[in-house]
Amino acid sequence: MNALLGIDYGGTHTKLLLVDGTEGDGPVLARESVPTAGLDVLVQDVRRFVGDQPVARFAMTVAGTFDAATGVVRRSVNMPWLDGTAPAQRISAAVGIPGSAVQDGIATAVGEATLGAGRDADDVFVIAIGTGIAGAHIVGGQVRAGAHGGAGEVGHVAIAGAHRCSCGQTGCLETLIGGGQLGLRWVEQSASRADPPTARDVVVAAEAGDEAAQAVLAQASDGLARALLQVSALLDPGVIVIGGGVARSPSWTVHPAFERARREATFHRLPEMRLAELGVWAAAHGAVLAAADEVG
Ligand SMILES: [Zn+2]
Repeated sequence: MNALLGIDYGGTHTKLLLVDGTEGDGPVLARESVPTAGLDVLVQDVRRFVGDQPVARFAMTVAGTFDAATGVVRRSVNMPWLDGTAPAQRISAAVGIPGSAVQDGIATAVGEATLGAGRDADDVFVIAIGTGIAGAHIVGGQVRAGAHGGAGEVGHVAIAGAHRCSCGQTGCLETLIGGGQLGLRWVEQSASRADPPTARDVVVAAEAGDEAAQAVLAQASDGLARALLQVSALLDPGVIVIGGGVARSPSWTVHPAFERARREATFHRLPEMRLAELGVWAAAHGAVLAAADEVG
């Protein structure tokens, strides 16, 4: 019996997922989350995790940009030890299993669209709101990458406000609702706090009645509502799926955004709007699907 391996090589944790068969949607044989370390440790983790199981192929996520032909990482902001290396080739040579790299945001989106909240739909736009925001439009199981591979950058669509984004523009969706930015927006409104709080801290404060935190989350969900209307106007997807860390407190962010988008839609053909279902395993499933594509 053959199997496929998905490796989600994340900034803090690495998720290993073994799936039966070579279609990518078979039963899960094993899964494990280990602390992320260098590639030498990852080789040992993969060997131990796979054991004697025959594996046809693997794919591993890369958090950053890489050359599609060679697999060489151009730049990984959070995992700089990958810059200039070809991590999938290195793992492949060490463990004797053919494998390739897949961009982490793409893997998350394909996982959710194919096996998660979008699995019954053919045309799905996925928005993953973490520290940054990843977006991807998946039609018939394939990502619509665009002519230059740059489609889906919903985090850098200018929405509102004058905050400078990491991309150089002002007012991007990411400045309103990106995980790191929620804390910064809260600090601006309540100067007494020294450390940059997390998105979770902002939600906890809002739940405890902190009006500044509530206002920051209201602006964030308004911005997300506007982005939902823009995605609908431009792409008319069948389903929009929202996941990522910020979506784990949906009553403050995602649900009000869904309601506001429904209220404000005029000509739009609004899609079904759903919360993601695979949680932190979405990218590992997406990696398995990428491996299945290569086998096919
Ligand atoms: Zn931006």
